Amino acid sequence: MSEDLIFDIKRYAINDGPGIRIVIFFKGCNLQCAWCHNPEGISGKIEKMFAPAKCISCGTCVEVCPEKAITLTPEGILTDGDLCTVCGKCAEVCPTKAIEMSGKQMSVSEIMETIEKERIFFDQSGGGVTFSGGEPLVHTKMLIELLDECGRRGIHRAVDTAGNVSSDIILEVAKRTDLFLYDIKMMDSGSHQKWTKAGNGKILANLKAISEIDAHIIIRIPLIGGVNDTYQNIGYTAAYIAGLAGNKKEVHLLPYHNIAQHKYSKLGKLDDFETLRAPDNETLIRAIAKFAAYGIKAEIGG
Ligand code: SF4
Ligand code: SF4
Repeated sequence: MSEDLIFDIKRYAINDGPGIRIVIFFKGCNLQCAWCHNPEGISGKIEKMFAPAKCISCGTCVEVCPEKAITLTPEGILTDGDLCTVCGKCAEVCPTKAIEMSGKQMSVSEIMETIEKERIFFDQSGGGVTFSGGEPLVHTKMLIELLDECGRRGIHRAVDTAGNVSSDIILEVAKRTDLFLYDIKMMDSGSHQKWTKAGNGKILANLKAISEIDAHIIIRIPLIGGVNDTYQNIGYTAAYIAGLAGNKKEVHLLPYHNIAQHKYSKLGKLDDFETLRAPDNETLIRAIAKFAAYGIKAEIGG
């Protein structure tokens, strides 16, 4: 059975498909959205996260580091990224959790064991498991094994994806998926390239492909002020969705918020929070009306 890198497992989730769910977050994505709420899910490697505000300068991490990568200075600790092998020993001993490692190698059986513990909540609420990321579809082998195993056990399966993979992959996954949570960011491929580091050709083609086999799809549109909340983009998006085949589609609009800012800082990454903002209420109301004009019920959140 396969193993892969998982960066988080969220229990009691209520916004990632029906009922109470467990969400498995794969580490590694083939997009780099400027507004990503899970920046620790972008890299497919284990990463070290550091929160200076939690550090009490005890020096324990300095003592245990086998590579001598950490130095304690009057301003706090400094890590030499060239020496660090992300072994995680410093995180194990840090008393305040100022250091945490993101990414843990897990096997299918380990994940299934974790999922099974939640079964009572699935049964009582009509919930199940949601595979997210990162991008679960780039972890194809492991994802398919997990979907098959959940299918054998009668567990509802949702896949949260941006769909930027080959059509062969998404159609294989679709055979084993009860619900797609499918992101569309924007219709203009040049803008998509600018904001996510990839065009949207495969994404739109794959949405069309799974619509044609009448997959159950919740289309999720992150709305970011100054990026994709223009009337023109919303209109093009509504027209595109209205033209898709299949009857089992809903649209959820996800207004941007900067809740993930602390994660960027822990990873030592630059972010675009200066330029990104939440869409205003008037834009949200106009967006809902625009979808309604195309016969599509759009709701905020979910
Ligand atoms: S992860 Fe390992 S190598 Fe890197 S700083 Fe911590 S203890 Fe040192
Ligand atoms: S072990 Fe944790 S609290 Fe102590 S110096 Fe290192 S990072 Fe700071």
